[in-house]
Amino acid sequence: MKTAYISDPFFLRHETGAHPESPNRLRAITRAVEPLNDRLIPLTPITASKSILRLNHTPEHIETVQEASAHAEALDPDTVCSLDSYEAACKAVGAGITAIDGIVEGRFDRAFCAVRPPGHHATPTQSMGFCLFNNIAITARYAQTQGFEKVMIIDFDVHHGNGTQDAFYTDDTVFYFSTHQTFAYPGTGMENHRGEGAGEGYTANFLIMPDSGDTEVLEIYHDDLPPLVEHFAPDIILVSAGYDLHESDPLAQLNVTTEGIREIVRSILDTADVPFVFFLEGGYDVEALGENVRVTLEEMLV
Ligand SMILES: [Zn+2]
Repeated sequence: MKTAYISDPFFLRHETGAHPESPNRLRAITRAVEPLNDRLIPLTPITASKSILRLNHTPEHIETVQEASAHAEALDPDTVCSLDSYEAACKAVGAGITAIDGIVEGRFDRAFCAVRPPGHHATPTQSMGFCLFNNIAITARYAQTQGFEKVMIIDFDVHHGNGTQDAFYTDDTVFYFSTHQTFAYPGTGMENHRGEGAGEGYTANFLIMPDSGDTEVLEIYHDDLPPLVEHFAPDIILVSAGYDLHESDPLAQLNVTTEGIREIVRSILDTADVPFVFFLEGGYDVEALGENVRVTLEEMLV
């Protein structure tokens, strides 16, 4: 399948100091995917405008991030900003926009957005958990303006994407599916949280106990995910690809192998014959991260 790889050296300028979400993550990914470069369509993202950011965030929230970045101040103890963080965050959002535009133009069917800062913890009103703006939520709203009425978001990061869930909790046009480790940050995403009002039944959370591995996680991707996708019948699928479910990750306690991640990705891609856009979220063992993004791209290219 024609697959775009959307990234930008500018993402290295989101400087975080002594922090697990470091520029070295992207350097390792760049090195690891090099053998695939001649099969991928390389693109640099646009810089998202404020009107794009407002598809998911309040003007006050956007202002807060811009101000924090202008003064290189932290938004909370976990979520830090350097002078270029605001622009990097706008390009991380922009990667999703560039992906949707390329798909609409028929240039490719799949895209991987190798971006930082990550996005899935950012709520419509607040940055948190290393995330400034919610890249995938904004892209979902933008995709809807481009004719993709029903958007499915699949989140395999080891942490629950509370910001993404918040954005679509009462909405039946965006289905949010997440697998995440029990007792992990930020503590949201209970299995009985299934959406509200019109959105009831359009959120699905699956908790995974610490020390679980490929078998437990793949059971969900093989047995629970496919009927949900088939029933919702999305026009496009966006994926929060967080690699902190890997056995070597320092921030979580799951034991998923690189081949397990390959099988998760393959299972997701097998659910529907629609465009796919993947967004880098977590993953903090830098070397494993590179390898895990490479196997993701190998599966996307098939
Ligand atoms: Zn995570």
